[in-house]
Amino acid sequence: MIDLHTHSVFSDGELIPSEIIRRMEALGNKGVAITDHADFTTIPLIMRNLRKMQEYRDEYDLKVLFGVEITHVPPNAIGKAVELALKEGAEIILVHGETISEPVKEGTNLAAVEEEIDILAHPGLINEKIAELAKSNGVYLEVTARRGHCLTNGHIINMSKIYGFRVVVTSDAHAPSDFINEAFARKILLGAGEKDTEKILQNSAKIMQKKLKKL
Ligand SMILES: [Zn+2]
Ligand SMILES: [Zn+2]
Repeated sequence: MIDLHTHSVFSDGELIPSEIIRRMEALGNKGVAITDHADFTTIPLIMRNLRKMQEYRDEYDLKVLFGVEITHVPPNAIGKAVELALKEGAEIILVHGETISEPVKEGTNLAAVEEEIDILAHPGLINEKIAELAKSNGVYLEVTARRGHCLTNGHIINMSKIYGFRVVVTSDAHAPSDFINEAFARKILLGAGEKDTEKILQNSAKIMQKKLKKL
């Protein structure tokens, strides 16, 4: 399990980055990304703090990335937020997609899949256009353990079979009780209708490898 979506105290998570990393390590996971909720006001603050951990990443038995989840930014401004995140050193960029459990503005998914982001998180009830753009632009769509957001996991897997975009599974953890291991990630995927759980787990490994190469 490589978990590419977690939150620390630098947004609305309960744990400092060191504890997230250590708890993931103790679960036997092979990698983690800390991806705090961010907008124009907090992207610089979050990345300035998370960057302080970069020099210690080799101290752990798992791979670590530091980034942001661009959250509730107006669709027309998402491109600028991505630019800012890259400028501030974000190693991985997620966008907080149109989950059915929150009033995320319509158009967020579309703006996200048109940008150079890595993962569109909890995209909700995506349509054909989002599916096709995710495929052609290489944006991964998320299946998640997070309550509320997970209600459309089955739809995401179903659409991935039809349109061929790639999927990742994440915890979107905000607290210790949200953390998942590989066995649980496989159950989430099976529950959503994905039998090839290995392929989906490998997608996260591919993202991690690609990102680490760039560092
Ligand atoms: Zn989110
Ligand atoms: Zn999140």
